[in-house]
Amino acid sequence: MPGQRADGSTPSSADRGKARAFFNRLLKRYPSIGTALDFEDAWQLLVVTVLSAQTTDENVNKVAPNLFAAYPTPADLAEANPEVVEQIVFSTGFYRQKTKSIIKLAADLEDKFDGSVPRDLDDLVTLAGVGRKTASVVLAEVWDDPAIAVDTHVKRVAGRIGLTSETDPVKIEKDLKALYPMSTWSGVSMRFIQFGRDTCDARRPDCGNCEMFKICEWPDRIEIAGKAR
Ligand code: SF4
Repeated sequence: MPGQRADGSTPSSADRGKARAFFNRLLKRYPSIGTALDFEDAWQLLVVTVLSAQTTDENVNKVAPNLFAAYPTPADLAEANPEVVEQIVFSTGFYRQKTKSIIKLAADLEDKFDGSVPRDLDDLVTLAGVGRKTASVVLAEVWDDPAIAVDTHVKRVAGRIGLTSETDPVKIEKDLKALYPMSTWSGVSMRFIQFGRDTCDARRPDCGNCEMFKICEWPDRIEIAGKAR
């Protein structure tokens, strides 16, 4: 039984067929996929996701081993000297704010959940610095739980292909959940994100070579593809 979109409507079988066609092509292109951030557990993924704002995953992967060697648990980081943490995360940018965020996150985990990461979206978003997107990434990547994280790539790709007409991430998440079976939700975000990075770039989408051209509904694709030829 298909779910409802954000506007209360139910996707038609044609809508679901199109969504399935897009996802099937992504599955062929990216048979297995996961975040490029290195992590060993939910705690580490939460922290590196906070650190990944406004920087590359590679940068985060370079500093994370030092951070977790110095502060293996939320209890350790909650008690950390901010100046020492700032030095460790310096190269990820916005280091003062990020240091504050991860120490507060660690303290929150200790206070609210005895230092263990809750496996529940409503609980996760009560943690400092953890929004719906980060919470969904953790649920999908760590536990393979049915969750769809909507970031800027997912928003752009879903809009251009014609899977949603919404602009609010929570509504886009609802629209995508209405289109796809729950069993596939955990595999949606990372594939949309990778496709957005590889082909459907924000400024320079490669429409002239895009295998999705025929099912894509973005009007500008025709002009862009014409110029590429
Ligand atoms: S045709 Fe262009 S806009 Fe459409 S999905 Fe492909 S790259 Fe993106």
